[in-house]
Amino acid sequence: MGAYEAVIGLEVHVQLATESKLFCSCPNKFGASPNTNVCEVCTGMPGALPTPNRRAIQYAATVGLAVNCAINRSSRFARKNYFYPDLPAGYQISQFELPICEHGWLDVDAGEGARRIGITRIHMENDAGKNIHAPAENASYVDLNRAGTPLVEIVSEPDMRSAAEAVAYLKALHGIVTYLGVSDGNMEEGSFRCDANVSIRPVGEARLGPRTELKNLNSFRNVQRAIEYEISRQEDILEDGGTVVQETRLYDAVKNVTLAMRGKEEAQDYRYFPDPDLLPVVIAPEELAAWKAALPELPRERARRFMEMTGLPAAEVEVLVQTRGLADFFEESCAGAEPRKVAALILGPLLRECNARGVAPSPDMCPDVWKMTPRALGALARVIDEGLISAKIAADIFGDLFTSGVMPEDYVKEKGLAQISDSGALEAAVDGVIAANPAEAEAYRGGKTKLMSFFVGQVMRATKGKANPALVNQLLARKLA
Ligand code: ADP
Ligand code: MG
Ligand code: ZN
Repeated sequence: MGAYEAVIGLEVHVQLATESKLFCSCPNKFGASPNTNVCEVCTGMPGALPTPNRRAIQYAATVGLAVNCAINRSSRFARKNYFYPDLPAGYQISQFELPICEHGWLDVDAGEGARRIGITRIHMENDAGKNIHAPAENASYVDLNRAGTPLVEIVSEPDMRSAAEAVAYLKALHGIVTYLGVSDGNMEEGSFRCDANVSIRPVGEARLGPRTELKNLNSFRNVQRAIEYEISRQEDILEDGGTVVQETRLYDAVKNVTLAMRGKEEAQDYRYFPDPDLLPVVIAPEELAAWKAALPELPRERARRFMEMTGLPAAEVEVLVQTRGLADFFEESCAGAEPRKVAALILGPLLRECNARGVAPSPDMCPDVWKMTPRALGALARVIDEGLISAKIAADIFGDLFTSGVMPEDYVKEKGLAQISDSGALEAAVDGVIAANPAEAEAYRGGKTKLMSFFVGQVMRATKGKANPALVNQLLARKLA
């Protein structure tokens, strides 16, 4: 892009996977019929009092610990006042001057080595409900099931310099919250949402340019494309001698453009003030120490360890750690099998199955489809290794093993698929193939040794792929000599 440098800061909203909402005991659950998970508190009835959810506070602090934040011993909830139909109280309860976590960072790698991205703050807040517009009925509906759902907002420093880096940061964050188990991270359902702030400036300029804020980015791909579009839009403006207007823009994924939504002049004054119904959130040092001690191994460290176990490059190991479920599955499958061979089975046939069947790459997320146990995958790696079945047969039967949960040895025995490594049995097949193809045998003996692969193929066909390839080669070489 030459003369300009992009500057990107992200605001990420993460829905916490608590049982109940942030300030009441209503279920925190996606997909219920409208306005069934509601009470006086989350519908903003006058006089109803909020009670903070201890688990939500723990989750928020845990996210902070995982991204190297300082956790404030005391933080405070404030009222952020604005009017919108999906916000029944007329204010959102959020944290303003005193958020729960501050001053963190995350190392991300978008292919040019690790870069440290600053995290300004993480604060807790409750989600709003949802407006559902039905133009055909000339009506709008409000569903308050989501109102009061606990969120953390993770605000980054304007430290990212490309769309790819923003996506790498977002994926790293997504990996962390799902590994921690504090969120399901489901982007389609809105559990993990992102606004991207984008500006550009001449290379070498220290001051930041005016930024636009992009909303409605509900997939990694859309984040990438929206930021790329926005950078080039701003470049065109500057090239034409114009200035970028600070405003909020909406990304239209179908047209792949960003459109002005509201300008700065419409920016709201939220009249923040501490919520008089809520005491400060105070975290005892012992409590914080216990949460810290309970942090699981996070994707980055895990990837590093898997690289040592398998000798595979970073890009492949990253695929193995993309979900905690898959990483656990890999690691458990390695008991008694060679890690590199187990990894090859996951990176190849197993992920192909997930893709083909449209299920998430994690056994806990698709238990109805993914029946294969780690023990079965480890055993499969071993039976291939020991020559009981060929790699080709392994690939053919993988789908059945994946969805049945049957142990590979049992499956192979039942279907009679064991590799033929007995030279007596193979000799007959080899003799048969040579006898059936006299012209090719003649040509081979005359010097057309390239025909070897033809003969191997014929023997394989005659044995339905069960012949041990090394032995077939040996026998053919001897008999054709
Ligand atoms: P607001 O709450 O109005 O969105 P903040 O100051 O909290 O404003 O900033 C929100 C995000 O915008 C942060 O992630 C920050 O890093 C980013 N940001 C601020 N200024 C710029 C800029 N000039 N270019 C890109 N990102 C920016
Ligand atoms: Mg913002
Ligand atoms: Zn409620």
